[in-house]
Amino acid sequence: MRILVQKFGGTSVKSKRSRQHAIRHIKEALSEGYKIVVVVSAMGRFPDPYATDSLLSLINGNQSKLSNREKDLLISCGETISATVFSHDLLENQIESVALSGGEAGIITTSNFSNAQIKTIDTQYIHQLLKEHQVVIVAGFQGKTENNEVTTIGRGGSDTSATALAAALQAEFVDIFTDVNGIMTADPRVVSNAKKLEAISYTEICNLAYQGAKVIHPRAVEIAMQANIPIRVRSTMLKDKGTLITNAPEADYSESIHDKLVTGIAYVNHITQIRIQEIKEPQQLHVMVFKAMAEAGISVDFINISPNGVVYTIFERDEPLAKEVLKELKVNPTYTEDCAKISLVGAGMSGLPGVTSKIVQTLTNKQIPILQSADSHRTIWVLIQNKNLETALNALHVAFQLEK
Ligand code: ADP
Ligand code: ASP
Ligand code: MG
Repeated sequence: MRILVQKFGGTSVKSKRSRQHAIRHIKEALSEGYKIVVVVSAMGRFPDPYATDSLLSLINGNQSKLSNREKDLLISCGETISATVFSHDLLENQIESVALSGGEAGIITTSNFSNAQIKTIDTQYIHQLLKEHQVVIVAGFQGKTENNEVTTIGRGGSDTSATALAAALQAEFVDIFTDVNGIMTADPRVVSNAKKLEAISYTEICNLAYQGAKVIHPRAVEIAMQANIPIRVRSTMLKDKGTLITNAPEADYSESIHDKLVTGIAYVNHITQIRIQEIKEPQQLHVMVFKAMAEAGISVDFINISPNGVVYTIFERDEPLAKEVLKELKVNPTYTEDCAKISLVGAGMSGLPGVTSKIVQTLTNKQIPILQSADSHRTIWVLIQNKNLETALNALHVAFQLEK
């Protein structure tokens, strides 16, 4: 049995018209002789009625005191609705299918509600259904615990449902259909000259995705990488095959993309920078601050420790808690709010001098202050004020010739 997993994101299943485009891709794959497992996200985006954030808005979003278990029961409904509506539309196109919840599809997760991890997938039932039907539809983003409680696997998790199913079913490949024509050199919503990449390695897109390129979930990439299943990230509206993600050694496609130092640029915003200077006992300060942050469950990033203080970043949503914690410690922090972290990612920059200097020069020419910077062999990060984000991304995109 040749199995293909096709995942359709929120905008791809939003309306009858977009679902019609999705069904065209299913028809094409059926004509090529595949059995298809379709994974769907909830329909549309807020304020569409059954989108995940719309369902969350019924209970005041993340401010609600409702337990994560009950929240999961609520937000999993978005994908359940989507799977059944999609099955209905397929039937109108003379394609019979069976729609399954994540749990019915055999997806067993941990009980870490709202961010559960997939532990195993029992594919027996899907295999049995695929013998009788051409198409099985699975509600993305959901699973169940061993005690049959409904879980969700973290925002953007339908990508992970798709690659995990593909790995368990030993599918030939996974298509991730979305609202852009593949993986681009930067978010096309912010950088209008962003260019589609024909191919990218698992490690590079994983890196970009962890740095904020939300076109695919990094956990989804890791699962496909372990099972060595190729992924195509494609537009639902077009025939184009999009971007191919494989294990291809970087040298194999060096001609096409790795003549460039940087493969892509990603960003994360809603970040606050915290700076604490303490002349007395600086060693004590570092230990005390990071221990207190960890105990409060606040994740810290971009840590710079120097003889007279510490600088680090947190997510804006953790700022009220961080302020309380630091008040208790009786230190004098300065907060720089509304920051953005830009990441330049590329296998080609490994070990090459001059990349950081080019970034610094580009941002300085645009009079954009750099609040912090750091680098590893394949990524360079800079922290700037969010108001400068669009200018910075576009300038760096030009400086590294990513539009060419
Ligand atoms: P879906 O609902 O289909 O899962 P998402 O909104 O999660 O779609 O992901 C697609 C979006 O990812 C695009 O609309 C685009 O704005 C954003 N994006 C961010 N970085 C990139 C990138 N490097 N390449 C393509 N899209 C990107
Ligand atoms: N609907 C879920 C979300 O918005 C999962 C997904 O779309 O991948 O996060
Ligand atoms: Mg997504």
